[in-house]
Amino acid sequence: MTVCNPQKDKIIIVAEHDSVSAQQIISTLTSNGFSDIRHVNSGEKIYEILRPFHDQPERIGLIVLNDSLPKCQLLEMSQSLSCATDGSVIPFVILRSSDSADSAAYLEQCQSEASSCLTYQISTPVDPQLLLLSINFLMRLKQERFLRHQQEEQLINELASKSVIEAKLKFLVAHDELTGLFNRNSFERQLRLIMNLSNKLKKEGALLFIDVDRFSLINELEGFDVGDRLLVELTILIRKLVPTSNLFARIGADEFCLFLENKTKKQAYIVAETIRTTVENFRFFTGEICYSASVSIGITALDNSMPAQHPGEMILHSRQACNFAKINGRDKIRIYNQEDIAIKERRRDIYWVPIIRKALRENDMFLMFQPVVQLNNGDISHYEVLIRMRGDEGKTITPDQFIPVAERMGLIHAIDLWVVENAIDFLAALPSYMSRISLAINLSGTAFQYPDLLQVIRDKLELTWVDAGRLTFEITETAAVDNFERTRDMINKIRDLGCKFALDDFGAGFCSFNYLKTFPVDYVKIDGQFIKNLDNNETDQILVKSMVEIAGKLGKKTIAEFVETPNIALKLKEIGVNLGQGYAFGRPERTLLDSHQVSLAILLNSQKRRPIDTEFL
Ligand code: C2E
Ligand code: CA
Ligand code: CA
Repeated sequence: MTVCNPQKDKIIIVAEHDSVSAQQIISTLTSNGFSDIRHVNSGEKIYEILRPFHDQPERIGLIVLNDSLPKCQLLEMSQSLSCATDGSVIPFVILRSSDSADSAAYLEQCQSEASSCLTYQISTPVDPQLLLLSINFLMRLKQERFLRHQQEEQLINELASKSVIEAKLKFLVAHDELTGLFNRNSFERQLRLIMNLSNKLKKEGALLFIDVDRFSLINELEGFDVGDRLLVELTILIRKLVPTSNLFARIGADEFCLFLENKTKKQAYIVAETIRTTVENFRFFTGEICYSASVSIGITALDNSMPAQHPGEMILHSRQACNFAKINGRDKIRIYNQEDIAIKERRRDIYWVPIIRKALRENDMFLMFQPVVQLNNGDISHYEVLIRMRGDEGKTITPDQFIPVAERMGLIHAIDLWVVENAIDFLAALPSYMSRISLAINLSGTAFQYPDLLQVIRDKLELTWVDAGRLTFEITETAAVDNFERTRDMINKIRDLGCKFALDDFGAGFCSFNYLKTFPVDYVKIDGQFIKNLDNNETDQILVKSMVEIAGKLGKKTIAEFVETPNIALKLKEIGVNLGQGYAFGRPERTLLDSHQVSLAILLNSQKRRPIDTEFL
């Protein structure tokens, strides 16, 4: 019998410690046309084979695995590899030679209808025909899953026009354009794999977060071209100091991440010290002038005493350590220490918590309103509501000072509810000639974890008779991270009331396009970082165009935030962005001032409007 399978050049791993059985399986496979068979006799070795193919998962055909293979966590391995829902899935044919309760239970679970794991079990001694049939069957399923995933990706790509999407992909998905290093996205992906493997194989490794000191100074003094050249030269310099196999990425303007494999914290410190001194001795020439540079480095290790759960957290820890190095005078190295960070945060939290509680209790919060303008005619579409806290001596405290603490200390939900109730009260108190005014309210990332949000909105709208269509809720991607289904469900229920939704800070995260596809939102609010320099940054223009195109195809309106100049407003209008918000139109104010500037209004063919003067809060 021959296996009718077009994929016989794929790698088949035969993980079987019984040499007689292994030989029999290999000869069955060889005589049926499989050309790349790799035999291993322990669980560890499987990972060694998989590792070089982490970015070409389709090269691995399947794993035939004896369930009592030495050094093998059957459940963990097959669960992580065979249950992936995309093309990276690796099917398992499990040879049942033992009857351990957990492996039986797991296999049952894998083969239940609800499971997406590509696992099939056959008992030993192996029946060659049954083996071939199962391999054939599983590899077809894998191929199908791979094709389906490819089609989904294609669909996203097709949503944007070719040239735009190419530029977007080049920028967002692949490498960093300037240095040729990995960008943050690919770095995180690869780091995830390393962390998984290291965890299983108990290997060491350390992450260096390298930040160029006072980089903005070079940019300001010499311009962006020279700044870019410095980054490239530093990249080359650092690259030479470590083996090329180590992951190296540029993850921010002047921030680099370097993963040192098989290095302990102490060894990583020595490498970091070499990098630090090499950069310190490096001289950078531009025209007649010679600059010296320095870097601050934070280190975190794959360490059982304070393990990072995922790559994002590991990067965060190394960044926090790097910030401490900077606070301590720059040109320094610091190893991540949970205590440092915790003490600093705890001190800040202890200071702020009673202040926030008191402000909520005594209504020492107030709302400000910033106009969002239609770019085709300059009319105000609605206002974004932005919270402020009253500080001592008439000072105003901005949300960046208290919202993160409130999020950490569980006070954010009370703030969200306070804003919702006060914003609706505000609308209710407007005179009837202003009954068309509508507001956009920010909700925190955790807002949907509390079921009472829906009730509060519904009750307040009923009580005040305010039309639900006058409310838009701005949410960010983080809202969905913890519980995607619940978030979507809640959004739908609030939309059923008649409210609208906007996806805020669009483009700032790495999954924005995916979220957009699945979130029922009406507006996409393009993150300010793409807008601020739009008029003289071609990449930003290409990115914004692509966002507009994709949002348009999905039937959503676009809003650009941080519109700071008339030129940017015009450029946005030309690109086809629907709405704009930013200092060019008006800063957040206590009142609903119709504050867009005359010149801008003329520019956008709008008629000058009478200021609406209200002081309600
Ligand atoms: P966000 O939702 O992205 O709000 C936009 C921020 O950009 C606001 O800062 C706004 O004042 C500022 N901004 C507006 N136009 C411009 C501009 O042209 N240039 C620049 N550079 N900035 C501009 P703000 O009010 O300090 O709010 C900061 C963040 O705090 C908000 O970011 C939002 O995430 C959060 N926040 C504000 N109000 C609330 C609230 O009521 N509830 C919750 N949960 N979060 C809020
Ligand atoms: Ca917002
Ligand atoms: Ca925003």
